Amino acid sequence: MRLSRFFLPVLKETPSEAQIVSHRLMLRGGMIRQEAAGIYAWLPLGFRVLKKIEQIVREEQDRAGAVEMLMPTLQLADLWRESGRYDGYGEEMLRITDRHEREMLYGPTNEEMITEIFRASARSYKDLPKILYHIQWKFRDERRPRFGVMRGREFLMKDAYSFDLDEASARRAYNRMFIAYLNTFDRLGLKAVPMRADTGPIGGDLSHEFIILADTGESEVFCDASLVDMGAPGLDVDFEGDLQPLVDERTALYAATDEMHDAAEFQARVPADRRLSARGIEVGHIFYFGTKYSDAMNAKVAHPDGQERPVHMGSYGVGVSRLMGAIIEAHHDENGCIWPEAVAPFGVGIINLKSGDAETDAACNHAYAQLEATGREPLLDDRSERGGAKFATMDLIGLPYQLIVGPRGLKEGKAEVKVRRTGERHELSLEDAVSRLAEGAFS
Ligand code: ATP
Ligand code: MG
Repeated sequence: MRLSRFFLPVLKETPSEAQIVSHRLMLRGGMIRQEAAGIYAWLPLGFRVLKKIEQIVREEQDRAGAVEMLMPTLQLADLWRESGRYDGYGEEMLRITDRHEREMLYGPTNEEMITEIFRASARSYKDLPKILYHIQWKFRDERRPRFGVMRGREFLMKDAYSFDLDEASARRAYNRMFIAYLNTFDRLGLKAVPMRADTGPIGGDLSHEFIILADTGESEVFCDASLVDMGAPGLDVDFEGDLQPLVDERTALYAATDEMHDAAEFQARVPADRRLSARGIEVGHIFYFGTKYSDAMNAKVAHPDGQERPVHMGSYGVGVSRLMGAIIEAHHDENGCIWPEAVAPFGVGIINLKSGDAETDAACNHAYAQLEATGREPLLDDRSERGGAKFATMDLIGLPYQLIVGPRGLKEGKAEVKVRRTGERHELSLEDAVSRLAEGAFS
């Protein structure tokens, strides 16, 4: 992509309404624009990151055996009357009436709809187990939308739903999602800690929240510090095998959000030097809720003994759009974002220090074509701006590498590579710079 053709409305001033760094950088870097309280347009740069996050979430759901589908954003109120949640959900639900005076709502979550879809076809134990998911926009009319995409009203969520014959099998589905989540957040460059959580209005008896530690997080959390550096199980986990030991290893250590926190237990179980009390961002939440919805909505299957019983269900959410804020909270400096390579909107930023100079333009175009051909997704700053402004923009948008090309360097056959994360600079020939960037040799 050439910056002259791209749409990157960066702001010079720090927007006063933004209280946390991720919100400030997303606005300043031209990634999002607020259209109404808690409702954002995703501008091209932000949208590229969002799609990359979404794709990683998708790949790890697929790897864990979940099956993707897409449910609509609008739902019938009557569906929610079946579960009894239509009245219970309260003011967070955006209620809409269509031209036939039919009551509808913009979905805040999809337990009812997926249960309806499942019960329409599932008949026997042979139809189980199943995990279905979608990545779809949700609407919750939050009392206090704030911190940009962290607490939006319209936000993108991955929500998965599991269907099993009994509790033991449902726990295997739960474990699949538990492990998939750890791998997902790890690939996104985040250290997520699973914490025992309250089941809230969805109900049930087994639940974990996945929390990224950050001072700007809205949740108060308490955990054994050794959980933070435990690392993810890895992409070679056998999802058909027994995942319980991997889950146990993590749930054996104390970790709880404030609703579930027990100070006495914390003191007793965690040695003083490992007692971590901190703030965190909830990026995922998994629940096993048994037959709560299948009872209420009559979603039954015949067991091998011929008896029909309600299916056991769980639901598993990831805040896809919130993750973008969480990643910035974890990866930035005073000059801007520092994207992990896996989600960077572009791989390499090429800075042309003298646009319009034939030789410099030709060198930049050559580097651009080669990096493009090797899939490095270059962004070429070919605008007629001063070098200083180009450096500032490139630092702000935080691409992992910068290739700096100017007439003075070219005379000596040199270009410069800057590694955004470390600030490290390498001077080398343009050919070497391009081929090493193409190989990923600076990472
Ligand atoms: P919170 O406690 O932050 O309000 P929640 O517990 O109501 O979230 P869930 O129903 O568990 O949310 O939704 C699954 C995931 O969706 C959450 O873990 C979070 O990452 C994300 N999420 C929830 N509400 C929002 C929101 N208003 N804006 C952005 N992401 C959200
Ligand atoms: Mg939650």
